[in-house]
Amino acid sequence: MKEMKFETKVIHVGGEPDPTTGAIMPPIYQTSTYVQSSPGEHKGYEYTRSHNPTRSRLEECLASLENAKHCLVTASGLSASSLIMHMLPKGSKILCGDDVYGGTYRLFSKVFPEIHDYKFVDTTDLKNLEKEIESFKPALIWLETPTNPLLKISDIAAISKLAKKSNSLVVVDNTFMSPFFQNPLDLGADIVLHSMTKFINGHSDVVGGAVMMNSSELRDKLFFYQNAIGPCQSPFDSWLVLRGIKTLAVRMKAHEQNAIKIADFLESHPKVERVVYPGLKSHPQHDLAKKQMKGFGGMITFFLKGGIDESRRFLENVKLFSLAESLGGVESLVDHPAIMTHASIPKAVREQLGIYDNLIRLSVGIEDQEDLIQDLQTAFSMV
Ligand SMILES: *Cc1c(COP(=O)(O)O)cnc(C)c1O
Repeated sequence: MKEMKFETKVIHVGGEPDPTTGAIMPPIYQTSTYVQSSPGEHKGYEYTRSHNPTRSRLEECLASLENAKHCLVTASGLSASSLIMHMLPKGSKILCGDDVYGGTYRLFSKVFPEIHDYKFVDTTDLKNLEKEIESFKPALIWLETPTNPLLKISDIAAISKLAKKSNSLVVVDNTFMSPFFQNPLDLGADIVLHSMTKFINGHSDVVGGAVMMNSSELRDKLFFYQNAIGPCQSPFDSWLVLRGIKTLAVRMKAHEQNAIKIADFLESHPKVERVVYPGLKSHPQHDLAKKQMKGFGGMITFFLKGGIDESRRFLENVKLFSLAESLGGVESLVDHPAIMTHASIPKAVREQLGIYDNLIRLSVGIEDQEDLIQDLQTAFSMV
């Protein structure tokens, strides 16, 4: 059969009917262990920390969505990031984008510096990055693109080329785009990482992570650490993601349609200073976004005119947009990074990066466009 399209893969890969009963939905293998017929003789499953059939189905589906040979599903996005760090020999050098998810920054600035050496740089500046690679000689380059919350875009193909010359691995955190809008392995990256908590599951009811790669060697190393350390996802949570992922394609299209409308609305609003959305011509890397992404996603960042008081009034008056951390669910969320998701980044560093008190991040859901715009309109009128 011809290679299936994304919309078909999300439903059929890993979604075969249960061979024993014909049940169209896969069973939840809610078990910790498996009976062996003789010591060491089993059907490929010994213990759920190592393997579980429900989780295997999800891994099969996710690998196909990123055009990868392998996938490992983990207990959370951050545990997937931790496994990658554990896999590196002690004292490894890691060159990391300077505008990454707050939890990634905390992990790389507070936990792993005991073991590795980190340097944070602007990965959107290719010239400077090339110099940094030459002088720092990183074992691994960590990219998040688009970044959270400033939606800065790094050129995955160009950076992967530079990395090959210096034998550095490239990891791309692809959480914001989901495999529907961006496939980093196709652009030359070695590992792609997702917080499944966000768009992949899409229903704000699971925490999970995943890494996909083509190299069997990398897969085996990461699997060793996953099994040895233990951040595996529960069968029930894997099943929920298998359920949520079926609508990934339709959800991503709906998120994007709404986000495009809302970004336009915000850009023309008198109380808004500036809007950052990769789909806007005003985005400094709009052309690169068009080149490496298949769409622009559902995340919008904007700067309100004013400061903390104006932001507070706006955030207290939105109703459909819920004030909450996280993103990527069917429901719209609004976040104030300086106080909420990025509070673990020191204020001086935050402001150097451009995360000011008037920065607001929207995760645009799939509700009705006009209802969402009306909600924002009302909140602006209270500012
Ligand atoms: C949420 C998030 C993570 C961490 O994932 P968890 O599932 O919360 O551990 C990593 N990267 C990005 C971009 C995220 O948004």
